Amino acid sequence: MKIELIKGDITKMEVDVIVNAANSSLLGGGGVDGAIHRAGGKAILEACQAIRNKQGKCKTGEAVITTAGDLPAEKVIHTVGPVYNGGKREEKEKELLANCYTNCLKLAEENNLISIAFPNISTGIYRFPKAMATEIAINAVKQHKSKIIETVVFVCFDDENHECYKSLLNG
Ligand code: ADP
Repeated sequence: MKIELIKGDITKMEVDVIVNAANSSLLGGGGVDGAIHRAGGKAILEACQAIRNKQGKCKTGEAVITTAGDLPAEKVIHTVGPVYNGGKREEKEKELLANCYTNCLKLAEENNLISIAFPNISTGIYRFPKAMATEIAINAVKQHKSKIIETVVFVCFDDENHECYKSLLNG
């Protein structure tokens, strides 16, 4: 798998699938979730509602797939990142964040999607320290050997995340 880094808006990405940092309700929220639903139109929300009706909420670390509506991508994978609290919970929170990346890659493979773009899951409203989240994301992706996925793009929206990824990917 080739790993790429860009700074920008994930809703503009022309890849097979973009990942949404959703919340467990799957019914939309702020940050990147709000941006994806705004740009993709109501088809995404309707698909999320159908999943909700079938399976209930999406658990932290897990992922579901829907249409991408009006977006240039074909599909959206919605994953629920952990909220960062640190302390005794930190190890579990780190494991759940890694699970998000791994489960998204698995779901992309099951759907024969060969290019995938990730936002910086849990580093906004869910307040994961950005350097820590960067290391977890890159390690999870590098550890996942795929025969299907060819390109993984990390899409950073803010400077701090972009700097973290630049230094870890180039260092
Ligand atoms: P979480 O609740 O998982 O923390 P947020 O959406 O609050 O999710 O933040 C996750 C990351 O998404 C943040 O680093 C934020 O800068 C970034 N982000 C916000 N809007 C966009 C966008 N349009 N494209 C890509 N990343 C975005």
